[in-house]
Amino acid sequence: MSQALKIYFLPFFSGGHVIPMVNLARLVASQGHQVTIITTPSNAKIFDKTINEEDTSFHVHIIKFPSNQVGLPVGVENLLEAYDNQTVRKVLMAANFIQPEVEAFMKLNPPDIFIPDMVFTWSEATAKTLRIPRLIFKPLPIFYFCMIEANKSIDDPKEEAFLLPNDTKLDPNYVRFHESIVNSANNSDGVIVNTFLELEEEYIQLYEKLIGCKAWLIGPTSLTTQKIIGTCMNNDEHKCFSFLSSKEQNSVLYISFGSMSLLSDEQLFEIASGIEASGHQFLWVVHSKNKRKDGKTKEEEEEEEEELKWLPKGFEEKMMKEKRGMIIKGWAPQVSILNHSSIGGFLSQCGWNAALETIGAGVPMITMPIFSDHYFNERFISEVQGFGVEVEEGGEWSLSPYDPKKKVVSRESIEKGVRRLMDGGEESMKIRSKAKELQEKAWKAVEEGGSSHNTLIALINHLHTLLPNPPNY
Ligand code: UDP
Repeated sequence: MSQALKIYFLPFFSGGHVIPMVNLARLVASQGHQVTIITTPSNAKIFDKTINEEDTSFHVHIIKFPSNQVGLPVGVENLLEAYDNQTVRKVLMAANFIQPEVEAFMKLNPPDIFIPDMVFTWSEATAKTLRIPRLIFKPLPIFYFCMIEANKSIDDPKEEAFLLPNDTKLDPNYVRFHESIVNSANNSDGVIVNTFLELEEEYIQLYEKLIGCKAWLIGPTSLTTQKIIGTCMNNDEHKCFSFLSSKEQNSVLYISFGSMSLLSDEQLFEIASGIEASGHQFLWVVHSKNKRKDGKTKEEEEEEEEELKWLPKGFEEKMMKEKRGMIIKGWAPQVSILNHSSIGGFLSQCGWNAALETIGAGVPMITMPIFSDHYFNERFISEVQGFGVEVEEGGEWSLSPYDPKKKVVSRESIEKGVRRLMDGGEESMKIRSKAKELQEKAWKAVEEGGSSHNTLIALINHLHTLLPNPPNY
């Protein structure tokens, strides 16, 4: 093996960014390199249970979260906890405020390579000052970047695949944010994307032409982690597995809207009514923040929980009694759930990690985007790749999950979407077989000799060439 590299990873403060980056770090460590994740205490909690303490190649360096500077309560350090736009802005501000501490740490203990999340655009200056090669990690698909590039200018003619729903125009602030990310990435020593060639082959050339920089496609990182530490990287002891194990193959619908989305009581009520009307079995994850409103005391929250405004009266008891459905209130072991043989579909917000995890499990999707990139991912999942059905055609675009004006998706649309996939007609067979086909391609990509595996080897060779005294290949 060539020289072991010392590599620092800096994930952004959200579940959808931390999880794939830690998976990437684990993959790099499995190749014999020394990796360190730089993160804050609460963000470390997202992944610390999955770390083998005896693994000397995997380290975590904890930095302070600048709670006082940004005005967030102690312990609120990521978008998992956000329930309004102001909190999101503060978490994004914190991403900038950590620069001095990260820089000081790197100055004292310089790595060979620095791999920050794409959101840390300041990393360009840090890497330049410290003369450390820097590669950017993008936890979003190639298709997403093509979509934004294609829609930056209102006037440009667009391919049909890139048209936004309902003639939506991109918010100029969003475009500026995107451009700062693209510019910072273009000035890096490479861009690593959590996707795989066979999935996005059609868009990779366009991406490189539009963005002007090469992308290393090494994913899905959820699969590489499953290869390294097994499918059950979450917690197989969870009570949902006894429910799932009592069910027939492909008979249960998994429902989750990811780590960030905040759904209104009205929306949760419509989801409950829609799945009940569909007659299908389900496992539904509802995060506690979905039942919390800004400014409420704990007692008020508990009172509200008792009232269960977000569920039809007696819903949970009835579903449990009939052994039809189960609700998980809190964090669910998603990858293990998706890989359970009883799961036959995933009603999802279409986060990119959710999409890759469901591909890895060969499970088809029912798509119900909540905000931002979810809409692009829905287009990719349902129209481009055909392994999902949409709950609503051309649903209402929203930039934030905390938009109070957001239209509620009706129980009828949800019931229809669930039936289209779970009733087992001709359309659902086609979608199911497409999901299996992609699953095969994804696993092949991460196996030895597969596209993502080969790219990883080439990437590590590339990293060696960035050292002050590169080896001769
Ligand atoms: N996740 C999980 N349990 C949960 C909710 C989310 O394990 O209860 C994980 C999920 O498997 C995925 C990540 O959190 O890896 C969420 O990322 P995604 O891109 O799907 O959505 P986001 O939360 O960013 O909208």
